[in-house]
Amino acid sequence: MLPAVFVSHGAPTLALDASPARDFLRELGGKLGKPRAILAISAHWETSSPTVNSVAVNPTIHDFYGFPEALYQMEYPAPGSPALAERTRGLLAQAGFETGKDQERGLDHGAWVPLMLMYPEAEVPVVQLSIQTELGPEHQLKVGRALAPLREDDVLVIGTGSMTHNLRTMVRGHVNAPEAPWARDFAEWIHGALAEGRTGDLLAYRRKAPNALLSHPEEDHFLPLFSALGAGGEGAHAERLHSSATFGTLRMDAYAFS
Ligand code: ZN
Repeated sequence: MLPAVFVSHGAPTLALDASPARDFLRELGGKLGKPRAILAISAHWETSSPTVNSVAVNPTIHDFYGFPEALYQMEYPAPGSPALAERTRGLLAQAGFETGKDQERGLDHGAWVPLMLMYPEAEVPVVQLSIQTELGPEHQLKVGRALAPLREDDVLVIGTGSMTHNLRTMVRGHVNAPEAPWARDFAEWIHGALAEGRTGDLLAYRRKAPNALLSHPEEDHFLPLFSALGAGGEGAHAERLHSSATFGTLRMDAYAFS
């Protein structure tokens, strides 16, 4: 059975710049194998209740400004999957969530940039699921737990955000700048809590983890980790698949949960 996965998608230029994180994502698709479909939970789609997109073919959303023209030319026209969208809504409804459906939206760069590296053929159907930032980590964990049965159907549940995400501290223009110790300390604390299954500590990371507010001035990019953890099932084992930093402070860690 497929694990649930969390990846850090970094800056949109991840698609262009050579980095260890890009090399890792290019190999990850082959390592996981080709799933029947993908449910992507991206930091870049925030709504008031869990919402899926349901389209025939995913439009590529270029939701970033001031980046190289080559990025705006990139397209990732993966098919959608109305069937997976309905199954996802059904599982969430069973768990007591109100859900929504968007029949126009495509894939934002939090979804298509890593998926383009993982599955460049854009053949695997992709559905996106939104996050609810104001409801916090416990909500996102419960959403993920409701989705754990998808893994039995050969669906890759992938949370895509960032292990650290403070854009004001990035060393701009230097993708492989030396890593800031505070970012490493935060990521290593999270790693310890994941490895030891300390879910309560993880849910309280804003109080307990070192440099938490510096690592995540806002929570949106960290929340997909909780949904991936939840989709790994109760008592999931966490395997760190990758760790590195880009631009000095953007940690690019990735995990598998099963
Ligand atoms: Zn992002």
